[in-house]
Amino acid sequence: MKWELVCGLEVHVEMNTRTKIFCGCTTEFGGAPNTHVCPVCTGQPGALPVLNRQVVENAMMTGLALGCDITRLTRFDRKNYFYPDLPKAYQISQLYAPICTKGGIEVTTEEGKKKFIRLHEIHMEEDAGKLVHDPWTESTLCDYNRCGVPLMEIVTEPDFRSAHEVIDFLTKLRSTLQFLGVSDCKMQEGSIRADLNISVRPAGGDKLGTRTEMKNMNSFKAIARAIDTEARRQIETLESGNKVVQETRRWDDNKDASFAMRSKENAQDYRYFPEPDLPPVYIDDAWLDKVRGSLPELADAKRVRYREQYRLTEHDIGILCQSARLCRLLEELVALGTEPKEAANWILSEVLRLCKEAGLDAGDLQLDAGRLAHIIELLTAGKLTRASARQALEAVFADDADVDAFIREKGLLVERDAGAVAAAVDQVLRDNPDAVKKFRTGNEKVYGFLTGQCMKLLRGKADPKDVNAALREALAQ
Ligand code: ADP
Ligand code: MG
Ligand code: ZN
Repeated sequence: MKWELVCGLEVHVEMNTRTKIFCGCTTEFGGAPNTHVCPVCTGQPGALPVLNRQVVENAMMTGLALGCDITRLTRFDRKNYFYPDLPKAYQISQLYAPICTKGGIEVTTEEGKKKFIRLHEIHMEEDAGKLVHDPWTESTLCDYNRCGVPLMEIVTEPDFRSAHEVIDFLTKLRSTLQFLGVSDCKMQEGSIRADLNISVRPAGGDKLGTRTEMKNMNSFKAIARAIDTEARRQIETLESGNKVVQETRRWDDNKDASFAMRSKENAQDYRYFPEPDLPPVYIDDAWLDKVRGSLPELADAKRVRYREQYRLTEHDIGILCQSARLCRLLEELVALGTEPKEAANWILSEVLRLCKEAGLDAGDLQLDAGRLAHIIELLTAGKLTRASARQALEAVFADDADVDAFIREKGLLVERDAGAVAAAVDQVLRDNPDAVKKFRTGNEKVYGFLTGQCMKLLRGKADPKDVNAALREALAQ
């Protein structure tokens, strides 16, 4: 029998608001354990939550960008459960009236077809703390710094039919959230993580099979592996005449396999009820219009503009528009007068190479656009050779070096001394009679060697264009 995969996602995104969702504590990542806490986020008796307005606006922006309906009267619900990382013993979340419903993202299938993945809803909730298991003392410690950090949960319909579609969806979702500026979406820090709901059914079937769930996946590679492995396990289970058990499974990346964790709770186990400590939130037209007006330019609009206004190639646009950070750098360079094509080349070749060598995600790039623009300006004006320009960028990348000071210190400025160039060419021709003879009898290959010798004599400080011109002229005589 031919089987098909059915997958739906619940994506948790940590928002990058300055403070938590219901108190004034900082959301900053890290910090000594239990230093970013207060009576509200640790659930002390009598402490009352106050909703952070920015959280609502971030969720509205996300909903508008993803074509969702915005719920005008949205409210919070209590999801009750006990776990040591949740000191209140309930999570404030949304069940009955989530802030956004419907909408979706268009993905590309493996066959290159366009396909719309529908969203079910987006809701707001608070994050839980972190449990640190210490095998040395055989104990578990609680760090509540993350308690109350605002989350958005983005729930899709079970529309995915391959891991490829899931990864494309997550890539597009992440870049949209970054363009909106509502989350850093740093996978390593867990600020975007996905629960995978997976089932299989006879290909083309219309009934959903029994699903399993894998929670808190935070690497694209692991997600793709987990989906394929779990689909195969379910198919094998069904083909051997057994039933798939509805359960939560844990993915172990080292073992490249998943393991049963617990059988699935049902919604009523959480004893959801409307949160009595928070009034419902009414979103009127004026507020919605204000937020709509504040939406930044998103990837689709940028793609068109980069093509028509900047005249970049589809290939370059494709890479740039995956990263809000790279788009910002490009636009800053252009605003500083760099020619768009040249700016894109520098980002895609040199800047990305440096990121890769440093093991740095482009999203975390710290680079002053003004300094790069200045380097490109010096190169274009013939005051730096390309090799020296690269060297200057490396210094800026590594420790934000001052470009002019660095160039002065290293003596990288091109010297426009026609006499020096002529003298160097002269000497190289005199020192290498064999190469000259070869060149004059038609061996073009030695030309590179001869320019290299000239540049070496000039200690790399001459403009290669000048050297070329002088050398060609001398050889033609
Ligand atoms: P919960 O997991 O919280 O009980 P839902 O039942 O609403 O919530 O489902 C959550 C996610 O599981 C959604 O993304 C949905 O698309 C997906 N899903 C539901 N049923 C299936 C199924 N049979 N196979 C695959 N995914 C499913
Ligand atoms: Mg779930
Ligand atoms: Zn707090």
